[in-house]
Amino acid sequence: MNSSLVRAYVGLGSNLNNPVRQIRSALTALDAIAGTCCVAYSSLYRSKPLGDMIQPDYVNAVAAVDTRLTAHELLQELHLIEAEHGRVRTERWEPRTLDLDLLLYGDQRYEGKALTVPHPGLPERDFVLFPLHEIAPELHIPGAGSLRHLMERCPPPALQAISAAV
Ligand code: ATP
Ligand code: CA
Ligand code: CA
Repeated sequence: MNSSLVRAYVGLGSNLNNPVRQIRSALTALDAIAGTCCVAYSSLYRSKPLGDMIQPDYVNAVAAVDTRLTAHELLQELHLIEAEHGRVRTERWEPRTLDLDLLLYGDQRYEGKALTVPHPGLPERDFVLFPLHEIAPELHIPGAGSLRHLMERCPPPALQAISAAV
């Protein structure tokens, strides 16, 4: 645990078992993590799945949290919340009740076995860039430039805003 607060961003995704309910419940759970509070969250967006697997569309959102946890501690808490929401991890990009990705942890750049920040998918995923822009338009992504610049380079988004988060 740190003595100071770090602003981190979490990407939320779900495509099983009432995804809107899963995302709303996960936002509440993020706020309940020890030493952590949720300071902003985006609207919910509907997006197409990554990869070739036939599966339902996703609901995505992004939340900003202030946390005293280290990045590894926070990721551990995210995995616990995923498990509480019935996440079964078999293979990458498989359908899931809840996926919580640690997108950014302050301005930290770190690449390890269990954790990489910024999240490597962030720069090219419309379902991350657009909700992130909604809550932090001036954001700079360590190692990848301004969020605005990344959005300009992103192909036309195939996203649908579906509702405010709460
Ligand atoms: P992607 O990571 O491309 O979005 P995914 O979310 O389907 O795919 P998971 O199965 O949820 O992938 O996670 C695979 C591994 O990624 C986990 O074991 C986790 O430890 C690791 N990981 C590394 N960096 C991060 C991060 N920034 N946020 C979340 N998980 C991460
Ligand atoms: Ca993911
Ligand atoms: Ca994940």
